[in-house]
Amino acid sequence: MLPFLESLIFRAVKNMMRNNHLSRHITDAGWGEFRRMLEYKTKWYGSRLVVVPRFFPSSRRCSECGYVLPELKLSTRRWICPECGAIHDRDINAAVNLLQYLNSA
Ligand SMILES: [Zn+2]
Repeated sequence: MLPFLESLIFRAVKNMMRNNHLSRHITDAGWGEFRRMLEYKTKWYGSRLVVVPRFFPSSRRCSECGYVLPELKLSTRRWICPECGAIHDRDINAAVNLLQYLNSA
């Protein structure tokens, strides 16, 4: 298991914060503690934690040619790369970019 820690996780946790029960636990633990637990658990299981830079453009970067869109609205779910013409599903493209990042780390 190779967990990623990047802004997508922070967004997911932000959504979890809307749930009062989860929110209390997340707030109690704090971000430093959350990361410490991830580091501890990955070491415990003989795995590796890859920390992706917070502003890594996983959704805006073309996973085919590396072109980075200047902006991409959250509502845009599919886009065509102006450089190579690749058609991207936002989430799949982001996952491929994160996998490429992992393989280069
Ligand atoms: Zn491209």
